[in-house]
Amino acid sequence: MIEFKHVEKVYPGGTTAVKDATLTIEDGEFVCFIGTSGSGKTTALRMINRMHDPSSGEILIDGQATTSIDPVKLRRGIGYVIQQTGLMPHLTVYDNIVTVPRLLKWDEKKNREIAERLMKRVELPLEYLDRYPSELSGGQQQRIGVIRALAANPKIVLMDEPFGALDPITREALQELVKELQVEFGSTFVFVTHDMDEALNLSDKIAVWHEGELIQYDTPDEILRNPANEHVRGFLGEDRLLQAQTEFITVKEIMITQPLTATMGMSLARAISVMRKNRVDSLFVVDDDHRLKGLLTLNDVASRSAHSNLSVADVMHTNLRPVLEDALVQDTATRILKGRIPNMPVVDKEGHLTGLVTRTALVNLVYNSIWGDEEEIDNLTDEPVINPTPVNTSATTEGAEK
Ligand code: ADP
Ligand code: MG
Repeated sequence: MIEFKHVEKVYPGGTTAVKDATLTIEDGEFVCFIGTSGSGKTTALRMINRMHDPSSGEILIDGQATTSIDPVKLRRGIGYVIQQTGLMPHLTVYDNIVTVPRLLKWDEKKNREIAERLMKRVELPLEYLDRYPSELSGGQQQRIGVIRALAANPKIVLMDEPFGALDPITREALQELVKELQVEFGSTFVFVTHDMDEALNLSDKIAVWHEGELIQYDTPDEILRNPANEHVRGFLGEDRLLQAQTEFITVKEIMITQPLTATMGMSLARAISVMRKNRVDSLFVVDDDHRLKGLLTLNDVASRSAHSNLSVADVMHTNLRPVLEDALVQDTATRILKGRIPNMPVVDKEGHLTGLVTRTALVNLVYNSIWGDEEEIDNLTDEPVINPTPVNTSATTEGAEK
């Protein structure tokens, strides 16, 4: 775990590069620092491995203040990758990769194995081990930069705009690779970038810096959903925000609240009268705590004698699969549309009925915004609904009352 506690950095010239920053990075997290040039990202990053020390406040690694750890020792346990790869030009690729393992005095045979395994892992030919960095392309050099940082299996890896100088395709390939390696190694990654796509792609959490201040620190989803201020919004861009707004619409936002209900003990005659009065063909059934228990349709009651002593609980459908009000419409739309009932009940975490989503509301939303093309909505209605009877069926209602 890496903790920043009220960290400030004032450079000797008087520039305050980082102002009162507090954040926690959990083990195994991939965190991106994003911000415009000069916002303090590099300074913040370099304070983790003591290339700079805070002017005030402190940084703790696994609870220990970094200032109490010898910087040379500390850096051997922390991988570091920068834009210009930082590879030593006069050393072969192999010697570059095993720099830290050698400092740690690991067995040379083991080092060779590590280097070869990592070369294979990043899909570079083993003969490159004997070449010099300048003989490799920029993307290949940066692959070496990445595996060099990982060679000694560090708990923490710091990367400062490592792919900034690469073309977009190479860059994307390396992003994917780094993300995979991070998962495989289980290390904590702190990655500086000024590219929001890169940050959204890679991060478990994003720290947004502006003029030395940490203005937001949260998951990509949460940042897209609730950007803290106009600087964060600016970083995201209007297109992305608009897209995010629809992507993050929850069921709660489109549901109808206070749906009509029947109680379990209600007589069928009474239920029919509620349906008639409100001109609906189904009612959700709730218990005394308003927990969803079932669905009663007009067909069910119509086929039984209203004068029998059956109650709602005897004839209701109980195999409902309600949606949670906090679920994203995007994630549940297909299920709702494919569902067998015309209105999908919505419940809170405790199972209380809080609303319903009509298929119509959903279809409108889906057509308007979520799926630009129709591809996914084809074949959505392949299952029959329980009660396709139109609402206006006075004949049925009367029949049921006989
Ligand atoms: P970023 O990485 O976000 O571009 P930096 O951390 O490099 O930002 O810089 C933050 C601020 O600190 C800038 O105003 C920069 O000019 C200043 N700065 C960075 N490094 C030094 C330094 N070694 N000495 C003095 N000022 C510095
Ligand atoms: Mg920088």
